Amino acid sequence: MTSPTLILPERSHVIASDLRAAIGVDKVKDDYSTLTAYAVDASIYRITPQAIVLVESEEDIAATMRYAVQRGIPLTPRAAGTNLTGSAIGSGIILDVSRLNRILELNREEGWARVQPGIVLAELNKQLACDGLLFGPDPSSGDMCKLGGMLANNSSGPHTLRYGAVKDNVAALRVCLQSGEWLDAKVYGLGDPNCVDLLKAHRPLRDLQVLLRDHSTLIAQKRPTVSKNSCGYNLFGLADGFARGCFDLPKLFVGSEGTLGLFSEATIRLVEKPRATLTALIHFYRLEDVGEAVPKLLELYPSALEVMDANTLNLIGRAKHAIPVDAAATLLVELDADGAGTDLRAQAERMTEICRRYRLTSDPVIAFDPEQREQLWKARKALYPTLYRFDPRKKPINFVDDVVVQAERIGELIRYLEEFFAGQRVPVAIFGHIGNGNAHIIPLLDVNDQDDFQKMVQGYHEIHQTVLGRFGGSICGEHGDGRVRAEYVRTMFGPELYDLFVRVKQSFDPSGVLNPGIKISDRPFTDHIDYVRLSKPCATCAKCNAVCPVYDVFQSEDMSSRGWFEIVTDKNYSYLNSKRVVEACLNCKSCRTACPAGVDVSQLILDRRAEHPNKMAGVIFRFHAQTAQFERFLKFLARYQPIWDRPLMRRLLDYLTKPFMRGLAETARLSPQLVLPRLARRHLRDRYPELIPQAGQAARSPVAYFHGCAANYFDDGVGDAVIAVLRKHGVEPDLPTQRCSGTPIETYGHRALAKEGARVNLASLAEYDKVVTGCASCTLMLKDYPTLFPGEPEQAAAQALAKRVTHISEFVSQSPVKPAMASSQPTRCKVAYHSSCHLRAAGVTKEPRAILAGLPGVEYVEMPDADRCAGGAGTYLVKDFETSQRIVERKRRAVEQSGAEVVATSCPACMIQLRTGLQGAAEVKHVAQLIQEAYEAADRQGPA
Ligand SMILES: Cc1cc2nc3c(=O)[nH]c(=O)nc-3n(C[C@H](O)[C@H](O)[C@H](O)COP(=O)(O)OP(=O)(O)OC[C@H]3O[C@@H](n4cnc5c(N)ncnc54)[C@H](O)[C@@H]3O)c2cc1C
Ligand code: SF4
Ligand code: SF4
Repeated sequence: MTSPTLILPERSHVIASDLRAAIGVDKVKDDYSTLTAYAVDASIYRITPQAIVLVESEEDIAATMRYAVQRGIPLTPRAAGTNLTGSAIGSGIILDVSRLNRILELNREEGWARVQPGIVLAELNKQLACDGLLFGPDPSSGDMCKLGGMLANNSSGPHTLRYGAVKDNVAALRVCLQSGEWLDAKVYGLGDPNCVDLLKAHRPLRDLQVLLRDHSTLIAQKRPTVSKNSCGYNLFGLADGFARGCFDLPKLFVGSEGTLGLFSEATIRLVEKPRATLTALIHFYRLEDVGEAVPKLLELYPSALEVMDANTLNLIGRAKHAIPVDAAATLLVELDADGAGTDLRAQAERMTEICRRYRLTSDPVIAFDPEQREQLWKARKALYPTLYRFDPRKKPINFVDDVVVQAERIGELIRYLEEFFAGQRVPVAIFGHIGNGNAHIIPLLDVNDQDDFQKMVQGYHEIHQTVLGRFGGSICGEHGDGRVRAEYVRTMFGPELYDLFVRVKQSFDPSGVLNPGIKISDRPFTDHIDYVRLSKPCATCAKCNAVCPVYDVFQSEDMSSRGWFEIVTDKNYSYLNSKRVVEACLNCKSCRTACPAGVDVSQLILDRRAEHPNKMAGVIFRFHAQTAQFERFLKFLARYQPIWDRPLMRRLLDYLTKPFMRGLAETARLSPQLVLPRLARRHLRDRYPELIPQAGQAARSPVAYFHGCAANYFDDGVGDAVIAVLRKHGVEPDLPTQRCSGTPIETYGHRALAKEGARVNLASLAEYDKVVTGCASCTLMLKDYPTLFPGEPEQAAAQALAKRVTHISEFVSQSPVKPAMASSQPTRCKVAYHSSCHLRAAGVTKEPRAILAGLPGVEYVEMPDADRCAGGAGTYLVKDFETSQRIVERKRRAVEQSGAEVVATSCPACMIQLRTGLQGAAEVKHVAQLIQEAYEAADRQGPA
């Protein structure tokens, strides 16, 4: 061990209570759920911490640092926890910077920004795009990883070929040193008085200066000769600075993996966003040809050049991604047009011409359209977690995942690796940034199997040794050393240079509290492997966190989809020790839509809730199931709504119903701010008696309209619109007997009750060719009925029904009838679409947009965050009104930014939530209502 032994107190609440006293109660957590959620990152390791600090200011960072140093407690900074090396987990305090997530300053002209470390890369670039700018380094985890982690790992990605790694794009850092003092780590001229002052003030900097001067020859000798390296400390970058007469401090801290100091902000360099981009997929018949084609393709100055080998293509599924069966490797090439003179089409022709010299299995697929380009990238970006689907036991294990060789030798490296793993009989995916010679190697192993475990250890040593010896490469291009490569850093650089790394570490972190076990450590890479987790289906990649609305507002891993997976599948889980978090999920299903590994966290949570059904909700839903009585009660409420729905009465109602609402959840209430829909005095079924089949009567129409509860009970015109639209398409639908589809019932844990209703619906919908829906949640629930009846007699009927469920927007898109629409409209109305989560989860995303864009008089605008939850799912507006309003705030900003006058959607809960959150800033309508309006306008206009 190179750092002093740390005194780690037994598990106790002392650390958290001390920290609470120092920085505030709300920012420190140490309950079971939080510690469980923070025990993992995206690596193969697990370490349970003692306390979590969610810092909100530099003062919080410095106070936590001082406390950890005084008490000798390990301190691990953490951003999104997507590293693959175990560098954001630790046994002491985890300092999470996620709440520091703003752009502090942007200078468009000079192309730089001061940014806090908790901002997600995708969010950063989205904001910069408004000014036509971009932060170049782009790890494939860009949807979820945060700047702090990117800085500390010196991350890079496919576009590093063009824009460099993080180290090439950072001008300055604010670093909290172990002393609790702040250092402005930028590039100083060596003779600059500021530099002299800095050296006087900070001893570690003086030590560093001496070390660089005394060992310049050794550093030069040991410099990696490949184009990328994130192994060890970047003394090479510092030595380059010295040669230019400057002290280039960002070079030391970028890539230091939280072992030398904590960042509170960075000044990053920005580039112009390309005007246009071309993405191409090229399938090669022979691997050797790829190696030969790369130097020629590099002459086109691509911004990205990625490779996936034959095994990878097999593992992700060739058919699913339309990859020819005989492709030995696939290249993904991207070309940017930024200068005025770049002609991308001409470039595409040159590229095709180069590729034709080799044996391709099919013509290159070339895309200019952003959506098509995204599709081409999709499989590549989610490759690692997608591999989790391959086998229930054999998981993708990151232990030799990030080697670098000369770009022209990558074909040779891939051939060597394929032979090595074939010899071991281990399936392996090999892919990566071929233009930089950076290969990601992900073998699939069952680490709980002794044989596979031995293969992992053997592969770790043999492959790293071969990369260093035969290829003269690096063991780490961009993922960092962390726990997984720390053991090999000495071998990579030799004992003398390693000794300099140790001296740097000891100088900046004399008490050894800063992220111990990372980068500079002799611990074997097999320490702390999470054998239990590696037999579970979750890759801990955090892609779900990026879409989880609860994580979005709390920025804390215990309030996140990935964290909840850990908690509800933990061996020590109990409803009582985790009720707070299990009840916090909205059941919006965004996580399920996003997960590349096929995990449904929302379902796991529903399973846990089903073990503890909510009593109060049970009373309500049982009453709800007594249809006649329930409807009489609703009509009574409807009659007196003009009285009880007045502001003063609503406040009184809020007060009076509180004790009752608490039965639903601690936070539940009927907030007076909640814009309730008007209840119908005559329900939909009362208004359309002619569409209701008599009891025992066979279906009279091939199409049933499953209106669900909201369209029946609310007087909002949605049900009428769906019926009117169907009629325009020549369909007179039946309104067969129906019970609540079950979404809210399951949300409160009443699965038996949900099944009871589902049985009624299965029976009454059995005869119809199509079951049309208007409500997003009903659409998904009906399609999901097979999961309610696994292995039960009803499953076959449920599967048959799932295929026949059709959302009204799908129905209109597929209908052969094309009703007339008004030919022209005098005024145009700006309409944006809010894509309800449950409709997205049901796979309906394009149809509503396409319909809206084609309506006369509608100027369709795609609003930012259209695919994000608005916070209304799972009756959250009632269950936790305050949080639901924090969630909708992002949607409100998006609507404002889009300038939309109308927001169209298809979920009653979303409609209530948007009306409440938007407070009249835009009108809210169901997609069917807008379609109906277009047809009616045509009727008014008469024949052309
Ligand atoms: C599916 C997938 C794809 C990936 N693809 C790529 C890729 O293409 N390229 C790539 O480079 N990486 C990739 N990664 C790895 C990882 O996403 C990146 O390294 C990322 O930049 C880490 O960011 P993070 O916010 O998750 O950091 P974390 O995991 O939270 O932390 C990473 C390191 O940064 C330190 N740290 C965090 N914040 C601070 C701070 N404020 N001050 C000091 N130290 C801090 C932590 O202690 C830790 O050492 C991928 C990961 C996944 C799961
Ligand atoms: S549930 Fe899916 S998306 Fe979420 S962390 Fe696990 S694998 Fe990744
Ligand atoms: S269902 Fe929604 S709120 Fe629940 S974990 Fe998934 S994304 Fe988060």
